[in-house]
Parts: sequence; structure tokens; C-alpha cells
Amino acid sequence: MSNGWEFTRVKNFIDGEWLEDADADYVPVYNPSTGEIIGEVPLSSKKMSEKAIDSAYKAYESWRKLPVSKRVNYLFQLRKAMEEHVEELAVAIAIDQAKHISEARGEVYRVIEIIETACGIPTLIQGENLEGVSININGRVIRQPLGVFGGIAPFNFPALVFGWFVPFAIGVGNTFVFKPSSESPIFMQKMGDIFNQIGLPKGVINIVNGNRTVPEVWYDHPKISGVCLVGSTSTAKKIAERCGRAGKRSMLLGGAKNYLVAMEDTQMDIFIENYLHSCYGSAGQRCLAGSIVAAVSEIHDRMIERIIEASKKVVVGDAMDPGVYMGPVISAEAKRKIENYIEIGIKEGAKLVLDGRNPKVPDKNKDGYFVGPTVFTEVTPEMTIAKEEIFGPVVSVIRVKDMDEVLDQIRKQGYGNGACIFTQNLYYTEKFIAEANVGMVGVNVGICAPHPYLPFGGIKDSHLGTNKVQGKDGIDFFTQNKIATVRFAPPTGSFMDTSGSQKEEKEALKPQEVRSCVAR
Ligand code: NAD
Repeated sequence: MSNGWEFTRVKNFIDGEWLEDADADYVPVYNPSTGEIIGEVPLSSKKMSEKAIDSAYKAYESWRKLPVSKRVNYLFQLRKAMEEHVEELAVAIAIDQAKHISEARGEVYRVIEIIETACGIPTLIQGENLEGVSININGRVIRQPLGVFGGIAPFNFPALVFGWFVPFAIGVGNTFVFKPSSESPIFMQKMGDIFNQIGLPKGVINIVNGNRTVPEVWYDHPKISGVCLVGSTSTAKKIAERCGRAGKRSMLLGGAKNYLVAMEDTQMDIFIENYLHSCYGSAGQRCLAGSIVAAVSEIHDRMIERIIEASKKVVVGDAMDPGVYMGPVISAEAKRKIENYIEIGIKEGAKLVLDGRNPKVPDKNKDGYFVGPTVFTEVTPEMTIAKEEIFGPVVSVIRVKDMDEVLDQIRKQGYGNGACIFTQNLYYTEKFIAEANVGMVGVNVGICAPHPYLPFGGIKDSHLGTNKVQGKDGIDFFTQNKIATVRFAPPTGSFMDTSGSQKEEKEALKPQEVRSCVAR
């Protein structure tokens, strides 16, 4: 292959073994930087999905009974092994997802940080204890695992989404079936080898590749306790419905359309640096990518000049080339979809001030799926390009008169993932944090992704189900509360000690003798 990559026939990882699926159709895996076929991935059968559930279910009983310190020890080893293989793992992301290699390294390091956070599970999972809820009775809340979870990843974060789900889920004692996106399955092929390398017990993590046929088996399956997804809102809604009907818990992160708000006191250089990273990083295919710039009139014109000037300098090309800033989008279909949105923007009256269609790329990348930085001005919030998730490097600039106007636009949006404001003003900052109707807010940052200690997730159409990922939310989702009421008898055999102070207390209780549903 032109880039030295060896053709990969993707396999499923079940019960610690790499398996082919004789019943599956295989579809090509592409390198979006060149358009070359670099492997093939099975659209696994229901039978394969069931096999993975059985393996995870069998592993669950002994895995949950392992001391928490032993489970966490596997996470320490996973962290160490990933650190030893950062480059190999980053290449696996850059080859099929075509995230630029430097960002791919960043994604691997972020997963390592998440695993570090999950290593705190012995502290994070602790429950509550209330001594003396009544005489000789204590109350206790304990957090327990539920069983087997299924998790589904989108194409754009093959590693991060593994990190969001799996370390927390298994650290607290569950086992897992993970379905990567069939557009970016290579990263998890490397991870399966790492699971075996660290001696992770068989069945604790299983990987089944394919399309929606794989999770189709999960919703009504008695051995599956919950489902999590990161993907588009339409997929999230379908899963929410199925899980709701089956009475299963679900954690579902959906699509997004994120504002970057520039107030009159924006520090322009800081804004431009963040704008480039936010809007063109991962070719705009990030759930926290900025795709709308709302600039107040005082700086609107000056800002557009700077945006165009900086955007023209963005080097587009092969995700593996260190001199490149922005790689391709995921597929020929995604490219067509993005170009179609550009057409719609023009038809609806927005002004295309920078056209990224057919950017200049090196000869070896002529069949890749490239869209260059694209900027529309004179956009209004009602236009399709301002409302729908384009998921590419296409930015809509909206002129606003003040912050209230922007807050109103954000409030009316269907999505509610993130929004960032650029200002030095404390009033604007606090007002924006309080009133922006989104799940994650940033101040003077272009990507408001919370650190792994904190929850990550939006509101409205960007998040369905119960919890967000990471942090305490992650622990809550993957555990259930059990409340214990413990009465302890003294050796006399009588629950009430009839001597001393307890006798007095018993007497004191007498006048209120009522039948209670609470143990006394
Ligand atoms: P997608 O919804 O097409 O697919 C996501 C995953 O769901 C894939 O593994 C796919 O095979 C599977 N899937 C598709 N249809 C399904 C169905 N009916 N039932 C069960 N599984 C199904 O999304 P995508 O194109 O892979 O990813 C991009 C989307 O993900 C964007 O909308 C983006 O905003 C979103 N995303 C959100 C976040 C977040 O944190 N909110 C993060 C990353 C990506």
C-alpha cells in the first residue's frame, strides 16, 4: 500500500480471542487521506453479537467479585500499556479516521487521562453510611455494578469514546460489549491485543464490529443491563426509544451546533488561534467544534478579515503529514453532504466569503475526501446552515447587536452541546455561564471539553438518557444504589438492650408507639 500500511481484515474480539464472522458481509475500510482501501470490516451477525453478550455475562460473576483494588490494577496496567504504544495507537486513528496525527496522539493521551481518573474508583465508588438510624440499627448505601453494558462509538472518536465508557464501566465491576464505528474500526484492533497483553480476564471487554444489527440484539436481551452511545441525535433517539420500552438505562450523547461568541473586547489573536483549532481541528468533525461565530457589530468586520486571512493559511492534506493542519473528512459521502450544505447556504442567501470546495492537495491525496476551510457571512439563525449539524469545516458568521441577542439564538436552538464566549468582562462571563442554554460552556477557549474528573455532555437534542459521561456521572450510570438497613442483636438475643440508657430510650419511645413501616 502506498503509505506502507498492511491490509487489515478486521476481526471481533470475543472471550479474549480474535474471531472471524462466517455469517457477516465485509465492507471496505478506507484511508480518507488517499481514498485507498486499507482493510475490510465485518458487518457482524446477530449470532456474533449474542456470543459477545454470553462471554461478557459469563465473565461478570467473577469479575465483579474481584477486590476493587485488583480491578483497578488492570486499569493501571492498561494505562501503562497504552502509554508504551501511543504512536501505534495514534497511527491507527490517523489511518482510518484521518484525524491529523498530532490530534490523534492527543486523543490517545486524553484516554490515558481518563483511565487515570477511573483508577480513583476505590474512592469514587464509595457509598454512604448513617449510623444509628434507630436503636441498634444502621443504614447504608452501597454502589454495585449492574452486569453487562453495550457501548456504541461514532466514527470521529474511536479512542475517546472507548475511554468515556469502558474504564468506568469495568472499574466498578461491570463487563462490556463495545461496538466501534465500521468507518474507524482499526484503533480497537490494537486495543484487543493490549487487553490480552495485560492479562485482562477473558470476556471483560468484547469488541463486535458492524452496523446497527449488533446493538439490535441488546435492547431486549435479558443479559444486557444498559446501553450507551455517542453518535448523531437521530441514532440516539432511536436507542432511547428502544431502551425506554425495554426498561433499560441509557446514556446517549448526540449531535451539536456550537457557538463561538465574540464580544467587543475579544482579544483577537487569542480568538483566531482558538477559532482555527475549534472550527478546523479534525476537519470540523467534533461534537464541540465551533460552527457558528456570533460577533457583535463593533468587531464584526475586523473579525471577518482576520478569520479569512487565517483560514487561507490552513494547510490541508494527508493526516499523516506533520506539515498539514487539517486532514480530510471521513468519507466520500460526508464530503458530498458538506458540499451540499455549501450549496444550500448560497441558495438561502448567505455570502460565501471563503469557498473550501476542491482545495489544493498533494498529488498522492488527489482521491482523498477533502473540504477546505469554508466561511459564510451574512448568515441568519433561520438558515439551514445555522441550524443543522454540517460536521465539516464550514463556519457561519452571524452579526449580533449584543449578548442578549446571542443568548436568545442559543436558547432557540435544538442542540445544546457547548458554547464559548470570548471576553475580558466579568459581567459578560458570568451572564453567559448562567444563561447560555447548553450543557458545556467555555470562556476564552474554543473547545469547552471538560477534564475527565468532570462530567461531559450537552442538553436538549445533544443529550438523551440519564447521565453524562466521565466523572461522577460515569460512576452513577454504571452503578446502582442498594440501601441496607442493619439491625444488630446483642449476645442476649434481645434486640433491645434492656439495661442502662437504651432502657430509658425504649421507655421514651413508648408514648409514641405507632405502627411504622420503618424498622425501629
Ligand atoms: P451515527 O449516529 O451515524 O453512528 C454512530 C454509531 O451508531 C455507529 O457506530 C453506528 O454504526 C451506530 N448506529 C447507527 N445507526 C444506529 C441505530 N439505528 N441503532 C444503533 N446503532 C446505530 O454517527 P457518526 O456519523 O458515526 O458520528 C457523528 C455524530 O456523532 C455527530 O452527530 C456528532 O455530533 C456525534 N458525536 C457527538 C459527541 C458528543 O459528545 N455529543 C461526540 C462525538 C460525536
